[in-house]
Amino acid sequence: MGSFLQFPVLIARTGQEQAPQGEDTYYIIGKNGTFLHKRTGIVEALIPVPDIPQLASVETWAELDVPRIPLALFAQVWHFFREIYKKMHSEAVALLFYDESTRQWFVEIPEQRVQGAGVHYDDRAQKPGCVKAGTIHSHCDFQAGHSGGDQRDERHFDGLHITIGHVPDAHPTVSVCVAVNGFRFMKSVDDYLEGVRMGEYEVEVFASPKFHRRKVHNTQPNRGPKHYQKGVGYKTPGFVSAVVDLMFSPWVPISTEPPSTMESLPDPVPPPTRTVRMQKGVCVDFPEGTVLSDYGFPDEWISRVYRYIPPAPVHVQVVTPVTWSSPTNMAHARRGSSRGHWNDEDWMAETGFDLLKDLPPPLEAETDPPPDTDPNQPPPPKEKS
Ligand SMILES: [Zn+2]
Repeated sequence: MGSFLQFPVLIARTGQEQAPQGEDTYYIIGKNGTFLHKRTGIVEALIPVPDIPQLASVETWAELDVPRIPLALFAQVWHFFREIYKKMHSEAVALLFYDESTRQWFVEIPEQRVQGAGVHYDDRAQKPGCVKAGTIHSHCDFQAGHSGGDQRDERHFDGLHITIGHVPDAHPTVSVCVAVNGFRFMKSVDDYLEGVRMGEYEVEVFASPKFHRRKVHNTQPNRGPKHYQKGVGYKTPGFVSAVVDLMFSPWVPISTEPPSTMESLPDPVPPPTRTVRMQKGVCVDFPEGTVLSDYGFPDEWISRVYRYIPPAPVHVQVVTPVTWSSPTNMAHARRGSSRGHWNDEDWMAETGFDLLKDLPPPLEAETDPPPDTDPNQPPPPKEKS
């Protein structure tokens, strides 16, 4: 028992452990959690507690004893994902295998059914001499990350799980995690990927200069407009002011004749200006002179991917006769407060309604034939000629 501990801590190995002599307060750690024994006055109890405040916190972590995945292998998979996205507008998955004796990474493409936001694959794939060490899957043209479905998949698959999003872009989004027993530990991209890092890169921005700053000669600073829309020139900003300006503006006759001088035309809209700004994101350092399309992949990878076609929705139309209301409802309406005086015979005699004979026909259900085209499917990707 450590001197730093204010109270004894027992490990319940058999459940028959003796309580510490002369201690009213102590902890027991058992299969089903941590418990506190206390005796104060007339109360004695053993109750569950979330933690033992006197103990130190334990940080969880997980790492794989592997070298980083080579850039060429990552590029091959990314290129494959991009081609699948172009052909099927779908995600796809690759399995990572690792040879512990040679410390080499390999990729296998399992048979898979893919769709825009999901992929189901045959997880029985094995590679002789290798351990199945993780997955890489794509997120089409949206953000990489680990969705709820991804996390469920990782629960039973200890290893490295990588997601590549925005696959058509030059700078994809990449998410890397190590999952163990369903616990996920997010990693930096360069922890497990060679030649891939977070960095800054230039993006082109085209701005349309709609408003022009003009120097306003105003004797009263901080009053009045600072920005004029070119060619319009409101005297005061705001809707009310615009209406007032319109009311008091000189009347201009509408003419079908073209204006006599160019001066009366509004200023032409200037072309958008191109600027460059820096953006933070994933940078892939391809060796000099190579681009992603240089990293070819086996043709059979594509042949293992099938676009998932969900079954056509079945439309069931329930037909209810509008003129019929339930005898019970009619009875309630008739009965009012004189419930005791009502019976079926009275009701049938008055209404001529026979419960057994006059019930409406059974409800009919109509089933639409499946349509030729599935409205849930996105349009097929455009083929480049
Ligand atoms: Zn995912």
